[in-house]
Amino acid sequence: MIDKVLIANRGEIALRILRACKELGIKTVAVHSKVDRDLMHVRLADETVCIGPNSATDSYLNIPALISAAEVTDAVAIHPGYGFLAENADFAEQVEKSGFTFIGPSPEVIRLMGNKVSAIRAMREAGVPTVPGSDGPVTNNNDRTLAIAHKIGYPVMIKAAAGGGGRGMKVVHSEAALLNAIQITQTEAKAAFGDDTVYLEKFLDNPRHVEVQVLADGQGHAIHLGDRDCSLQRRHQKVLEEAPAPNINPAARKAVLDACIKACVDIGYKGAGTFEFLYQDDAFYFIEMNTRVQVEHPVSEMITGVDIVKEQLRIASGMPLSIRQEDIRFVGHAIECRINAEDPKTFIPSPGQVKHFHAPGGNGVRVDSHLYSGYNVPPYYDSLIGKLITHGESRDIALNRMKNALDELVVDGIKTNTPLHRRLVTDSGFRHGKFNIHYLEKLIRD
Ligand code: ADP
Repeated sequence: MIDKVLIANRGEIALRILRACKELGIKTVAVHSKVDRDLMHVRLADETVCIGPNSATDSYLNIPALISAAEVTDAVAIHPGYGFLAENADFAEQVEKSGFTFIGPSPEVIRLMGNKVSAIRAMREAGVPTVPGSDGPVTNNNDRTLAIAHKIGYPVMIKAAAGGGGRGMKVVHSEAALLNAIQITQTEAKAAFGDDTVYLEKFLDNPRHVEVQVLADGQGHAIHLGDRDCSLQRRHQKVLEEAPAPNINPAARKAVLDACIKACVDIGYKGAGTFEFLYQDDAFYFIEMNTRVQVEHPVSEMITGVDIVKEQLRIASGMPLSIRQEDIRFVGHAIECRINAEDPKTFIPSPGQVKHFHAPGGNGVRVDSHLYSGYNVPPYYDSLIGKLITHGESRDIALNRMKNALDELVVDGIKTNTPLHRRLVTDSGFRHGKFNIHYLEKLIRD
């Protein structure tokens, strides 16, 4: 087993990784920006290194600083968490070239799946269902582009091959608007991602976002931990997730889960990963793969009992998967609410000092958060301050528990989106499973 891990992240996920390391007897190195020296996991780590000033570019995205920190502390492996450098193939490559283990798939696989055009192609070859689209990048042959869009049928979505985080996407409703919109998306993609490659996809009008959690040991074995529904989104950002995804056609589910496992083996996948799909009219359509642990991984852990981060650490140590598919039992239902430091109505970030923090508890309640009373939420990073996760025998019980947990939660001193979650878990449309990716935004508007 790896004996010392550098955690190249902050906040709740850094604490999550630290806890898993401690359970496995792995020593930990916490790296942090100046303002982050009071983070919970920094207090609990075996060693700490300040890697730079507050701006993420100078700290959590600073590759030389991270590698030097690993060198001076004799860390063996680097866990990237999610966000920051987690899906940066160049980082993974430099980590490996410097003699450390990158906790995740190989740089080649990250690169393959990081480009949506090559990812879609690889998935088609593995037999994973994809969205009807241009099957490759848009070229400067306008007649060809117009013909492709006509064949797909409007509305179409223009997507940046290198896009992520809900950016680099545009919906076009008519032929007249297509070429101009492509040009705009290309310019934006170049500026945001340094790559102006775009492709076309059928715009599905009322899909749900359903994704599949996988684990693969890179030794020819892969398993799935079922699916999650992450349809409740604002600006393509997930707000509330659940597992399993409710009301899925059993035959379509079985086919997609099998296809994901086959795809993992085909591309030589190693570690934890997520295949993201849109689900509409009983059919799955692959949109992208995330080659890292995801924010919403706890809901899959709650229904399977598998610790995804510990599996990541074992796999990175060269060990085979500790569980077989047939050993996994799916029990009950889990819900996760992402608690953000933001105004619940305007969504404007609300950093500042948490005067008082009280975490909910009780049967089936899990809190993944780095908050404590007196902690200062800095304005420099993502506004996620914690995740409430509840588990129950049924979806209704998990939702009732979430309502209680939200009522018990106290975060004084800053604003949070807790009121929005309270509204969601009691919303009758959501409770009856009548929702899609547009549901939350509509609810907020009305
Ligand atoms: P990102 O990498 O930025 O997260 P994704 O490809 O995962 O981008 O898409 C993010 C979200 O955008 C999806 O969850 C869905 O809400 C919406 N979306 C993406 N592709 C389509 C499509 N073809 N039709 C309708 N909505 C889409």
